[in-house]
Amino acid sequence: MAHQFEECMVSCQDGRLAEIHFELIKKRGMGKIDPISWGNPILDLVEPENPPDKDFTLKKLEISIIHHQVKIVRLYNHFDCGYYKLRGFKFATKEEERERLVSDLQKAAQIIKNKFSNAEFKIYLYLLNQGDGGAWCEEAIK
Ligand SMILES: [Zn+2]
Repeated sequence: MAHQFEECMVSCQDGRLAEIHFELIKKRGMGKIDPISWGNPILDLVEPENPPDKDFTLKKLEISIIHHQVKIVRLYNHFDCGYYKLRGFKFATKEEERERLVSDLQKAAQIIKNKFSNAEFKIYLYLLNQGDGGAWCEEAIK
């Protein structure tokens, strides 16, 4: 029987996020979270550079949602993402960047709901922003 996890956490692998991710995992319970992380699974879902990138992401989600039976899927996107830059995305303002990041989170959530419509899970969306002190903060998106 496959391992079971309560939640999965889908997020960019950006090393600057390691501390906040570790804190969140500790807060929610070590060993209960299935991390899905590389640069950047949210963008790979909504606008993959190559179609297989989307399939790869959905395959990893399938392992978590179907085989590991997670009940909660947490989707994270973050400001100043190197993968967005690498892909040629430029934002004139923080607001413009926020709009895009939130929109991508919402689209990713819809893609996941459509693909795994028979599975029972809830999706939560978060945006990570760097605060004045340099620490990354989690903001829940409605
Ligand atoms: Zn990133």
